[in-house]
Amino acid sequence: MIYDYNNVFAKILREEIPCKKVYEDDFVLAFYDIKPTKLVHVLIIPKGAYISFDDFSKTAPDTMIVGFIRAVGLVARQLEIAESGYRLLSNIGRDSGQEVTHFHVHLFGGNTLDRMV
Ligand code: 5GP
Repeated sequence: MIYDYNNVFAKILREEIPCKKVYEDDFVLAFYDIKPTKLVHVLIIPKGAYISFDDFSKTAPDTMIVGFIRAVGLVARQLEIAESGYRLLSNIGRDSGQEVTHFHVHLFGGNTLDRMV
């Protein structure tokens, strides 16, 4: 699969469409999901052409991977849900139902989350 530069998150990164920004640094952009399914529902995306976690874990430079992981933790603390708890989720590929083919992590929290497993 080839990265689609016209996917909606690529457009958000290029500021062609707006987002409700939560956090930004050299490695990531974090913004509220347009259709939140939990009290807090934020998306964290890397600033690079990565299709999914599979692609990211295989091809991203170490500095990007570290920057991304650090940023996810920082965003949760900035949103003040690190103490109460939160859930991370990433859909990867067809069987997961991944809709947007730019790697992203969903950050859910703000109230008690139903168990998934
Ligand atoms: P996926 O199924 O790919 O893991 O989830 C994609 C997520 O992106 C969905 O939760 C959907 O609501 C969100 N989304 C899709 N288009 C937009 C958009 O234009 N802006 C924002 N903020 N979120 C979007």
